Amino acid sequence: MQPNWLAQRSYLTPNRIGLSYNDKQWTFKELYDEAVRIAGKLASFHLDRGDRIALLAPSRPELISMIYGCMERGVEIVFLNGRLSSYELHYQIQDAQVKAVIVHEEEQHKLPEDTDSILFTEVFCAEEIKIEAVEEWSDDATISIMYTSGTTGFPKGVRQTVQNHSASAISSVLNLGLRDSDVWLCTMPIFHISGFSILMRSLLYGMHVRLYEKFDAASCATEIAEGSVTRMSAVAVTLERILSYMEERGMKAHPNFQSILAGGGPVPVDYLRRADKLHLQVVQTYGMTETSSQTATLSSEDAMEKAGSAGKPLFFNQIRIEGAAKPGDEGEICIRGPHVTPGYIGRFANRPAMENGWLKTGDIGYLDEEGYLYVIDRRADLIISGGENIYPAEIENVLLAHPAVKEAGVSGIDDPVWGKVPAAFIVLKNEATVEELLTFCKGRLASYKMPKKVLIVDQLPRNGSNKLVRRRLTELL
Ligand code: ATP
Ligand code: MG
Repeated sequence: MQPNWLAQRSYLTPNRIGLSYNDKQWTFKELYDEAVRIAGKLASFHLDRGDRIALLAPSRPELISMIYGCMERGVEIVFLNGRLSSYELHYQIQDAQVKAVIVHEEEQHKLPEDTDSILFTEVFCAEEIKIEAVEEWSDDATISIMYTSGTTGFPKGVRQTVQNHSASAISSVLNLGLRDSDVWLCTMPIFHISGFSILMRSLLYGMHVRLYEKFDAASCATEIAEGSVTRMSAVAVTLERILSYMEERGMKAHPNFQSILAGGGPVPVDYLRRADKLHLQVVQTYGMTETSSQTATLSSEDAMEKAGSAGKPLFFNQIRIEGAAKPGDEGEICIRGPHVTPGYIGRFANRPAMENGWLKTGDIGYLDEEGYLYVIDRRADLIISGGENIYPAEIENVLLAHPAVKEAGVSGIDDPVWGKVPAAFIVLKNEATVEELLTFCKGRLASYKMPKKVLIVDQLPRNGSNKLVRRRLTELL
């Protein structure tokens, strides 16, 4: 059992700032009192402990209140992603079999037509029923359910428990450290583990979260340069936008600023070099929905020497490479630890997340001699060309180092001789010809890895989490 985090936090540090948004801020006591009120209002909709609801709303303070209210009430939250199509939302709502969908009025139009929903204002205006305070939470209670991006197929609804979130937050802080003055800038979607885990860290650490509804390079760069925040989470695309913004204006990171935690996919080595010049520390991390955020992290001291690595496991976690006999052998990355989900819901409810206690990630990687993890790519995106394994990420990284390239995606296309060959899809930021790009690749890639086709396109297919969906690249041909 664990104490109710909301109550405990408000008891321990009532007057500390827990959340800020624009020019407003809330203490942990204010956040807790509001959570209790909302829990009472949820009860008037017959939402009881252990029930499951889905939540769809923009990342604003009302969403945080609703989340904390749901946690106080003990209802499981299925996080819906507003960037999904109504068809995709329909799938998740059905799959999760929720008792109600609670939706912010501005996003109601995104829901499938026949969805029974409760509006945010209806909850906020509802009568508050007096309910008994819940003093303890059990370790295996589900707090959140998130659907994976579905990058490689059907999205899977992943359960994240009290234990998962606490293990994740504690492991993270053992690695990154904590100061009283820490403020975590949150521009990541709250419906994704990258955003939600910031809230969980806030409750466990007593840390201020500076919330933005959307990512905006100018505001992030300014907060980083002024030192008004000390940490931030980003993915490669958003990191690049911050770097460009700061470079163009000669900005540097403030000494108060600690680091950007960059995950969700590999960070091109070139970005790390650029960040270094701005005195901006980038801590790379490897994680997934099934591990409630970070599993491995590369400390900033090692960032240059081990460039390209996702680092070492966090303290409570273990990483094993399936079938690897010695360092450097490639195989599927397997993970064990208290942060690993107990399982999926809905159509994947019967598919165990773990095999003999280990989560099989579907990612290919290796551990070097010193035990640093290198994530190579997703197993499903591997291109086998004339018997050689080609990983799209390696080719994308080379292309991304070209100054004219903004985004790059590589996928296999059919070839009568080799079976599959790599094709590259490029979004440019400056002018460049296909010949120039190929010449650039020549010295950097083995000939069998050279893209056999290069196509300049306006944009790459990305899913609701802004991730490149490689299997849809060939639709651009
Ligand atoms: P699905 O499982 O439905 O295909 P998804 O795996 O994209 O969706 P997430 O859980 O959001 O859904 O993403 C986790 C995945 O992101 C990891 O399994 C890995 O493939 C990739 N990833 C995360 N961090 C890194 C990293 N540092 N380097 C390389 N890949 C990473
Ligand atoms: Mg996955």
